[in-house]
Amino acid sequence: MNRRADVVVVGSANADLVVTVARRPSAGETVLGDDVTTIPGGKGANQAVAAGRLGASVALLGAVGADQYGELLRESLRSANVDTGLLRTARRPTGNAFITLTPDGENTIVVSPGANASVLPADVAAASPEVAAAKVIVLSLEIPLETVRHAVEAASSAGVRVLLNLSPVAPLDEATLRRLDPLVVNEHEAAWLLGEQDDPSTSDDAVAERFIDVARRLRELGPRSVVVTLGPRGAVTSDEDGTTVIDAPEVRAVDSTGAGDAFAGALAVGLAADRSLSDAAAFAARVAATAVTRVGAQPSYPTSEEVIS
Ligand code: ADP
Repeated sequence: MNRRADVVVVGSANADLVVTVARRPSAGETVLGDDVTTIPGGKGANQAVAAGRLGASVALLGAVGADQYGELLRESLRSANVDTGLLRTARRPTGNAFITLTPDGENTIVVSPGANASVLPADVAAASPEVAAAKVIVLSLEIPLETVRHAVEAASSAGVRVLLNLSPVAPLDEATLRRLDPLVVNEHEAAWLLGEQDDPSTSDDAVAERFIDVARRLRELGPRSVVVTLGPRGAVTSDEDGTTVIDAPEVRAVDSTGAGDAFAGALAVGLAADRSLSDAAAFAARVAATAVTRVGAQPSYPTSEEVIS
């Protein structure tokens, strides 16, 4: 690496194979879809590209295979100015996400981890100078949980701020939770962590009140701060300064794939620039809202000039 990155993302890189269908098949059913498009994705690579495109100095620690999808990812990362010096070429194939998209902008996703499963604590240990020099480390759960735990511990012991997006959900021990600043979850992940049923019935008026309470209760589980993302309804942040409702800008959504990753990457950029959690989340909401107006994950992420106001 030429220069140590302010934001180090430890996470996955996948090639997203996206097909649009009029409606999703139910079990045992076959439907015909449109042509497949292949788009660089994976939560870690997405977060890194989101941050890089915004002009931050960012590196991705992870692994891809020695195949065409690995090249696609390296190229996408390079074009967003993400340092790939910590991205290893593994013996396993590059991870894939099989995404079906319906005209309402919703998606379902199956992930095959491939090379991402070979990102081990030893990789993080080998990068300890880069991790310790970062301002913010960003994690999500498409790499082995033991690697995530190790990275959280290593970064936090070195005084580096740890942003963890609990996606896809997995149980975290209390010691790990206590080091998060912030824990970032969407409403389904929040419900899972609190051991509650998802409750989509909440009326718009009651949403703010309900999620202020959810964010407070999540903090009681240990994290230093919490962000709950609420799709088109925005987000709620909670830290020692208080609990803040962040409105989502109104946009015409065409594809919500990777909205949460755009949010997390932008949030890390804001925090690395020493913005408050609520300020950084308001910025992240504008970045993510811009991303949902365009197709794909990484290709939809805006530069600072393109972020809607
Ligand atoms: P995930 O993709 O992890 O499920 P969300 O759906 O909560 O996460 O989206 C993350 C963030 O993206 C939201 O907090 C919001 O700021 C933004 N966002 C998502 N969908 C929309 C939308 N339709 N309009 C505006 N902003 C959106």
